[in-house]
Amino acid sequence: MSQAILPGATLGVLGSGQLGRMFTIAARRMGYRVITFSPDSDTPTGQVADEEIESSYDDLDRVREFASRVAVVTFEFENVPAATAEAASEKAPVRPKGSVLHTTQHRLREKQFLKKNGFPHAPFETVRDAAGLDQAIGRIGLPAVLKTAGFGYDGKGQTLLRSRADASAAIERLNGGEAVLEAFVDFDREVSVVAARGQQGEFVHFGVVENRHRRHILDVTIAPAQIEPRTRDEAIEITRAVLETLEVVGVLCVEFFLTRSGKLLINELAPRPHNSGHFSFDACLTSQFEQQLRAVCGLPLGSTELLRPAAMANLLGDLWESGEPDWAAACAFPNVKLHLYGKAEARNGRKMGHLTALASGPEEAARIAIEARRALAPHVSIL
Ligand code: AMP
Repeated sequence: MSQAILPGATLGVLGSGQLGRMFTIAARRMGYRVITFSPDSDTPTGQVADEEIESSYDDLDRVREFASRVAVVTFEFENVPAATAEAASEKAPVRPKGSVLHTTQHRLREKQFLKKNGFPHAPFETVRDAAGLDQAIGRIGLPAVLKTAGFGYDGKGQTLLRSRADASAAIERLNGGEAVLEAFVDFDREVSVVAARGQQGEFVHFGVVENRHRRHILDVTIAPAQIEPRTRDEAIEITRAVLETLEVVGVLCVEFFLTRSGKLLINELAPRPHNSGHFSFDACLTSQFEQQLRAVCGLPLGSTELLRPAAMANLLGDLWESGEPDWAAACAFPNVKLHLYGKAEARNGRKMGHLTALASGPEEAARIAIEARRALAPHVSIL
């Protein structure tokens, strides 16, 4: 086993959003230093890190220089170019390794990985042009969802096709890029498992949580998900096998559709802490961020025990519609914790922060989190 990277060491984070911010908070709490690398300045991660490097991911000399100053490089943003991870790996270990990024940052490669390894997923076809889409519709049927192969999150780059008439507009929007046509899943619920794997293959998970989306963006997570024990065990076993197969060292989230007939289908993999694991910051003995830190530093993984049922409600930029939200109103809920990511500009749909509520049951926690969010901006109709 390689030597553990101990407190006092400097860690490198590629990416600079809220995931890096919470990772950095966990790291600094344990006495590590953090340098973040991204094309932006005054970022959510940079505001709490020891140092923020503002550079393009394509400036490989800067990447090497950054990596030579840290004991390990991890990332909070999986759309970092493969060449960036490669250049970093010349100077420091990159965890999870670049091949994990390569597979999971591209929908098509990710789906081919799932298919090749026998992981359950919705039927899909590769689409490159209008004729290909036509054939794919013939095989998959309608409705179906057309998704760009690269750089998609929160439903970006997705079009629901209800009829063949929707297809021509959708293909134009692809601009000649590769895409995946996926069968529409009439799911009962969406659930996910955030898990961590250490350098010796040790595995821990944060249980199965339920995710409720609005406008394709995660709205509320409730932990634990209220599902059959058999489904829970199956979701965890699938997640364990995904982390094993990819040889992840770090944290990975598996998002699932749970169909009406009780079947689990993998929707997406995210090779990093995930929005659906944010509850762990306040509700678990070890958060997903500290777990990422422990895994990439080669430390023993911590207990993921859920201290109380919890719910997380995202705070999107829409909340700022009629001015600054009333922070004191949310703080008036004694079992609610407020997290803000330090983003200056509140745009609609932009994740600005979240609330976590702890209660005696998960639905009760969700009710409190949503009530507290409404108290932040009682006049905003979207809530
Ligand atoms: P994604 O960006 O692929 O995670 O998709 C965002 C959300 O769109 C998912 O969480 C689902 O709510 C919805 N969605 C994506 N793909 C499908 C599908 N094949 N069938 C039904 N809903 C989907």
